[in-house]
Amino acid sequence: MKFLFDLDGTITSEETLPVIANHFNCKEEIAELTIRTVAGNVPFIESFIRRVNILGKYSIKDTCDLLAQVPLYPELSQFINSHHADCIIVTGNLTCWCEGLFKKIGCKCYGSEAIIDGDHVVKLKSILRKEDIVDQYRALGETVVFIGDGNNDLEAMRHANISIATGLTHNPAQSLLSICDYLIFNEHALCRQLRQLCGEYEDQKSVVISCAGIGSRLGLGLTKALVQINGSSLISWQLKLFKSVKDLRLVIGFQGGEIIDEVRKYRDDVIFCYNQRYFETKTGASFYLGARHANDFSLEWDGDLLVHPDDVKRILNTDGEFICYAEKSSDEAVWVQTDEQGQVYAFSRERGDYEWTGPACISKANLTYSSQNVFNMFEPFLPMRGIKVRAYDIDTYNDYQRVQEITKDWVL
Ligand SMILES: [Mg+2]
Repeated sequence: MKFLFDLDGTITSEETLPVIANHFNCKEEIAELTIRTVAGNVPFIESFIRRVNILGKYSIKDTCDLLAQVPLYPELSQFINSHHADCIIVTGNLTCWCEGLFKKIGCKCYGSEAIIDGDHVVKLKSILRKEDIVDQYRALGETVVFIGDGNNDLEAMRHANISIATGLTHNPAQSLLSICDYLIFNEHALCRQLRQLCGEYEDQKSVVISCAGIGSRLGLGLTKALVQINGSSLISWQLKLFKSVKDLRLVIGFQGGEIIDEVRKYRDDVIFCYNQRYFETKTGASFYLGARHANDFSLEWDGDLLVHPDDVKRILNTDGEFICYAEKSSDEAVWVQTDEQGQVYAFSRERGDYEWTGPACISKANLTYSSQNVFNMFEPFLPMRGIKVRAYDIDTYNDYQRVQEITKDWVL
């Protein structure tokens, strides 16, 4: 596996070209161009040519020394250090300007090339197409993970096996959000995800909340995560219930942008996992996408399911694989059939002792893709340990009213 990183704003906590512009007093011109470029409103190549025309007249050595001072994200630098053979920087920026910075980062780096005369850039020779480097490593049989934040990372992310959009320095370009696998705003969470991709897991289980659906049966015209329960969004209830969980993953699709804004009011280190095909797939696909690069054990949680706070604690403290079920409360549901020990031996649409509500916990070894429901994924592994919980699904408007009543005395 190879990790290909964008440089500006992804590894560095500042964009580099404005740093040069600041230093040489041509700030406004560059700042405006940079903002419009990162947002995808000026094509990268055009913008880069214009920026090099403006900045090329200054000393290469001064520029290089200046850029070597640009701060790097410390934990990310540490990750690159400890995995330097598998990390590669790809930047559209000029190699001659970035040499000092490249040295500081300490892994292989690719940049754009210029024709140089003495200490000055005469003109651009080649502009790096990041996707070419992705293709180059893929042709060697590598799995390529691309990490970037700008519109000029779009094609590289499309060509990569796994793509992570980051919002560490500024919000990622909007264009990335319709193709990326992950969106991460927090350095620590990003490093955790990178380690997980290397197979370095943390002990605590991951929690995967599926919020990708359109919530059509509820009829409030909102994805369920945003529905208000006693004055707070459903997702904010979940965030409070899962405060102690480090690796919290939210699978998003419909109204993903609004969910992100709501979540970030409470915490910044949630890993957003995109189910770009949310319209054609069911919760099984969302869970798979959320759990495939998570810790060794992942807890599946439907975004529209509220569980009593005491039972949430019990679930989080239970090791290994299990399936949770609740007393029957819906007319139309999937039932679980249990034996005397409470083990689940079957799911059924016809009859059963309890209602299947989730959550459920599975190990990575047993995680398989299913475009269908989560319970289909667990069926091959039955019988499994069962845990009875007080769980409340919000599928219909009646459920919604009932949950408002039930949660009134919950203390979070
Ligand atoms: Mg960038």
